[in-house]
Amino acid sequence: METDWPVIGHEWAVAHLARALRNGRVRHAYLLSGPRQVGKTTLARAFAAALNCTDAETRPCGQCRACTLTLKSAHPDLMLVAPEREGGAIKIDQVRALQQTLSLRPYEARYRVAILRRFDQARPVAQDALLKTLEEPAPNAVLILTADAPDRLLPTILSRCQVLNLRLLPLAQVQQALEARFGAPPEQARRLAHLSGGRIGWAIRALEDPAVLELRESALAALLEALGAPLRARFALAEQLAREKGALADVLDTWQGFWRDVLLAAAENPAPLSNVDLQADVSALARRVGVVGAEAALRATRRTLDYLGRNVNARLALEVLLLDYPTL
Ligand SMILES: [Zn+2]
Repeated sequence: METDWPVIGHEWAVAHLARALRNGRVRHAYLLSGPRQVGKTTLARAFAAALNCTDAETRPCGQCRACTLTLKSAHPDLMLVAPEREGGAIKIDQVRALQQTLSLRPYEARYRVAILRRFDQARPVAQDALLKTLEEPAPNAVLILTADAPDRLLPTILSRCQVLNLRLLPLAQVQQALEARFGAPPEQARRLAHLSGGRIGWAIRALEDPAVLELRESALAALLEALGAPLRARFALAEQLAREKGALADVLDTWQGFWRDVLLAAAENPAPLSNVDLQADVSALARRVGVVGAEAALRATRRTLDYLGRNVNARLALEVLLLDYPTL
């Protein structure tokens, strides 16, 4: 189903939110969960625009003051709360400041909307601080939380949110969007769609910023080299990566996608590979480590991503991960 929302994919979630809006049954708190860069914040912003849009018929119209300012994250009644640094977490002070603002009447719009990004990484004390707001919501406030791993949220938070779990987009939809909306040549759009594994946000960033593809390439080169290297070299890599805090989640995401491909190949699953340019490496590794080895490496990578979200010692977590990886 096509909608007017400035969102690619996630049609069912858009339909759900649009229906709530139409029927005047907007909840006080939503949780948009799903993989990194799948479009959670984009959907949250579009919903915020729809909530405050002043058009009589189509909400969000994309034209009115509320829509244009919200979509630029510049509306006075929109609060975008995010970890202060990449790889960090929302702090309790940020939650308290938000509560102050939310207790006031909207400045000019129908609702005050707060988007709290990656709230699953917030420590329990910060999550606890938000509970009060969820339990006694101001009448004109709507909270939208995003999370990669909703199981890290306190159950008391989860139970007070309407949860919408966003999934990876079909690769064809990513490709089509890159071509139609961003003017990417078909071949490049196809390649990026595959590499994205259905994460539309990643695909758009990769199209616009060459550094994204460079990071992917160096992450995979480092991984392949480490697999064939002695322990000493693996420790050195762990140390080096631990220093690149900002890029670490992207590196691990890339490795995760790679091990998923190895697992698919080992299991002789006909699903298309994400790392289309590394087919030879993927099949060779699949033969060497088999389904069990690939699954273990995939699980270890996912666990490490999860640990890093909890502020553990990055270097130690990476050392454990690289020791867990098979040796070639
Ligand atoms: Zn509007």
